[in-house]
Amino acid sequence: MSLRDIQASAKYHNAQLIAVSKKQPDHMVQNVLDQGHRVFGENRVQEATQRWAEKRDLYSDLTLHLIGPLQTNKVKQAVALFDVIHTLEREKLADKLSQEMQAQNRNLPCFIQINTGDEAQKSGIAPNELTDFLAYCTRECTLQITGLMCIPPFDDNAPSFHFALLKKLARRHHLPHLSMGMSGDYDRALRLGATHIRVGSAIFGERL
Ligand SMILES: *Cc1c(COP(=O)(O)O)cnc(C)c1O
Repeated sequence: MSLRDIQASAKYHNAQLIAVSKKQPDHMVQNVLDQGHRVFGENRVQEATQRWAEKRDLYSDLTLHLIGPLQTNKVKQAVALFDVIHTLEREKLADKLSQEMQAQNRNLPCFIQINTGDEAQKSGIAPNELTDFLAYCTRECTLQITGLMCIPPFDDNAPSFHFALLKKLARRHHLPHLSMGMSGDYDRALRLGATHIRVGSAIFGERL
C-alpha cells in the first residue's frame, strides 16, 4: 500500500489520514513530508518533541496528533506540541489538560478513548462510563471533546464490532468524530464511519 492509495481511500470517505510516524527513521518521515502530507501521529511525547519541535517552524501547516497514553507529568509538553489529543481517559488527566490549556492559552480538541474490548491492560474508559465522563470533561473542565477513539483487541478478528460500538456511542452523545482503524483494518473502519484513521506500518513499513 502506498501513501497515495491510503490518502485516496480516506478522502473518498471524507476522513483524515493520520500518518503514524512513531519509531520511524527520520528519512522515511521526510519522504512523506516531501510528498505533501502534513498530518502525523505520535505515541510518545518525548520522542515526538525531538522529531517535530523544529519541523513545526519549517512546516507551518503541520497537524500533530497524540495517539498514545499521556502521563500527567507530560501534559505541559504535550499541550505545547500537539494539536489534537486522542487518549483522554481519566479525570485526573482531564483536570491537568484543562489547567495546562488555560495556562498556555490553547484549546486542543480531544478524543475520549474507549476500551471497547474491556481489556484489563488497555487504557480507555468503559462504554457505560462515557456519559458521566463526558459531562465531567465538558462541564467541570471545559474541554473541547470532538469524538471517540478506540484500539480493538490485538487478536480480535472482528474489529468491526468495536468500530460499530464506537460509532453508536458517538452518535448517542452527539460527538462528530471517530478515531479508529490502523494499518490492518482502516478500510473496514472507513466503511463504518471513521473520520480519522491512524496508519503507520502500511505507509512507512515495519517500525524499528
Ligand atoms: C502505532 C499505532 C497506530 C498505527 O499502527 P499501524 O498498525 O502501524 O498502522 C495506530 N494507533 C495507535 C494508538 C498506535 O499506537
